[in-house]
Amino acid sequence: MPLDSRNKFQRGLVYLFAILATIGIAPFVVIRYLHGELLNAAVDLAIVIAALGSALITYWRGQATPAISVMTAILYSSGAVAVTHLNEPIFVFWLFPAILANFFLLSINAALIANMLCILAVLPIASRLETNTELFAMISSLLMCGSMAYTFALLNDRQRTMLQGFATQDALTHLGNRRAMDEELRLCVEDFARAGIPASLIVLDLDFFKTVNDKFGHKMGDQVLVDLAELLENRVRKTDRLFRFGGEEFVVLARNTELEAAMVIAEQLRAQIEEEIKDPEGSLTASFGCAQLRQDEDQHEWFVRADKAIYQAKQQGRNCVIAAD
Ligand code: GH3
Ligand code: MG
Ligand code: MG
Repeated sequence: MPLDSRNKFQRGLVYLFAILATIGIAPFVVIRYLHGELLNAAVDLAIVIAALGSALITYWRGQATPAISVMTAILYSSGAVAVTHLNEPIFVFWLFPAILANFFLLSINAALIANMLCILAVLPIASRLETNTELFAMISSLLMCGSMAYTFALLNDRQRTMLQGFATQDALTHLGNRRAMDEELRLCVEDFARAGIPASLIVLDLDFFKTVNDKFGHKMGDQVLVDLAELLENRVRKTDRLFRFGGEEFVVLARNTELEAAMVIAEQLRAQIEEEIKDPEGSLTASFGCAQLRQDEDQHEWFVRADKAIYQAKQQGRNCVIAAD
């Protein structure tokens, strides 16, 4: 599976922190040890080991795991706070990249909380600042940085959700599209191979749908497709998944369902479509193909078997349910 850009960035941050820790903290392990400050040396050593360990695990896995992202965020943030306390107050500048990094490493709300804690944690340095103006400038610039990053992260999240919708949903019926279906079928094949969980496909295609468009126009055709999608959504079980494969072909993925049960569901849907889906001239019907996932096939072969069964149903006069061989 390709890494999304967020995860690539998280991976980059984990590596960056490992480099910063090695250059910036590792020398102090030695210096503190030589000065006899054993506890400080041990803390520094633990941070370096954690940063390098995270980088190594990320490298092996090819991506930053959630646990590693959280740990890196904690190390970054506490490191920036510690550097500010141990040096001149001007070292608060390390907190700015940490605030931004938190929005990449954590969920938006967790980043918000972490950033507020970081800002609170550097407040004690106020006593070392010369004027209140400096304190005000420091706090307001940190808050501005945090709130801008927060807004940006929120917008980004919304856009990502919207794009995911565009990529996996059919625009007319809002059912899952072909891409979403491929992914779900693949998961079913995996579940079957791993745990023997059965799954069946019910594929249906409206009969003589072209005539609806030809006689009453494309808009009426679209309305019929929307009506059919609604009927299917109301009828199938919560655990089933629905897709519009394209044109006037729809797919019900019935998880944990064997062929016989799928045939019963298909027959009920067939009867209900005949009764409820209408154009101005009267009832419409659909032809059905059902196929239960077999041991020896992948998702494409499974789907093709169900699709072929529809072809048989069309040949046998339409408005019927056929089981794939
Ligand atoms: P059959 O019983 O053999 O399935 O005949 P059919 O007319 O349903 O099938 P055919 O494949 O000949 O025609 C399908 C039609 O579906 C052709 C196309 O104009 C129409 N169609 C496909 N997608 C859409 C859509 O999004 N909206 C509308 N209104 N029509 C569509
Ligand atoms: Mg058709
Ligand atoms: Mg068709």
